[in-house]
Amino acid sequence: MNIKGIKNDFPIFREHPGLVYLDSAATSQKPKAVIDAVANHYRTRNANIHRGIYKISEEATAAYDAARDAVAKFINAPSSRNIIFVRNATEGINLVAHAFARSRLKKGDVILATLMEHHANIVPWHMLAKDRGIKVAFTNVTLEGYLDEEDFKKKLTSNVKLAACTHASNVLGTINPVKRLVAYANKKGIPVLVDGAQAAPHLPVDVHDMGCDFYVLSGHKMLAPSGIGALYMSDEMIDALPPFMGGGDMIEAVTTEGFTYQPAPLKFEAGTPAIEAAIGFGEAIVYLQKIGMKAIRKHEIELTKYALHQMRKIRGVTVYGPKKAEDRTGAIAFSVDGIHPHDLASLFDAENICVRAGNHCTMPLHENVLGVNATTRMSFYIYNDMQDIDKAIRVLNNIIRTLK
Ligand code: PMP
Repeated sequence: MNIKGIKNDFPIFREHPGLVYLDSAATSQKPKAVIDAVANHYRTRNANIHRGIYKISEEATAAYDAARDAVAKFINAPSSRNIIFVRNATEGINLVAHAFARSRLKKGDVILATLMEHHANIVPWHMLAKDRGIKVAFTNVTLEGYLDEEDFKKKLTSNVKLAACTHASNVLGTINPVKRLVAYANKKGIPVLVDGAQAAPHLPVDVHDMGCDFYVLSGHKMLAPSGIGALYMSDEMIDALPPFMGGGDMIEAVTTEGFTYQPAPLKFEAGTPAIEAAIGFGEAIVYLQKIGMKAIRKHEIELTKYALHQMRKIRGVTVYGPKKAEDRTGAIAFSVDGIHPHDLASLFDAENICVRAGNHCTMPLHENVLGVNATTRMSFYIYNDMQDIDKAIRVLNNIIRTLK
């Protein structure tokens, strides 16, 4: 991969020469192609979609629909009707929680999550527990940072109505064997929601092969603007589940007595969507596909392998998650003896390096598995290179030397 060429495509690195951006798990930077696609939409065809019987509205509708097609092809969904545009991964999961709860859950039912979930894949289930009397169970995570598959199988009891699992952890980097997990669950008739927020930006995703019923993506973590994400629903679910929000665009007819709604996916998209962000999402996918998801994965394994090797040599540093780079993404959480993660992040910032500190919206993981309240996290993407890692390691060594 020509990283120099790739870096040149991202205007932020021209604005901030020398910036080492290691926080792509929080949000990615945006290439010029995506920024231009958004600006071009506003400049040339800004109009509301699905309504105007005039040229620029039809062009805006076509561009929005093309973005939906791009998402469908990117994850190998059977058709673009299986793709619902949402604001982000969080909204995708909440949509499933509401639609699923309204039609399929009753008191005493169980949602099986895992201890490595982001709060976005825990809190909506806790909310249902409070409102509907369901229970939330959690699959364990091993000390090596892998999902405990035996525990997952054991906990797939008859009252589990949905299993929810991340494809890749935003802290441990662990890539879960989602195809196997879906197979175990489906064998018992249990549908699975896969949180792809940390996987879709980094590796090839094939929802058809995976067999999951729900898969969520967060656009802003994969070069797209903020305010756009996607929820994939299988044919069975997208036809069976009721809408989540009511309003314009999702209806077929409204009377004083009631309403009928559009077929999927429009029944799930009430109101004016983030049109320009969806178009930017489509452009981001074109950009990623030009590089190729296999090439991106290969590049990130190389970076991760190198970073893990360098970090493990530093005394006083604990690196979390699987030891093998092949089993994980380039999100690397770590602790340094005697230095608070927030102090560490500020010291990195002083050297023009962006890293994240805190619980990364995974308090149950920190409390139950890592045994610390907070960690520091570096995370890589297509515009990072070995020099970025060398600089981060040099700075980390200097911080430790100075503070000890
Ligand atoms: N799931 C995972 C694994 C994440 O890392 C994140 C973002 N940190 C989310 C869900 C939520 O994504 P968003 O904030 O875009 O909704």
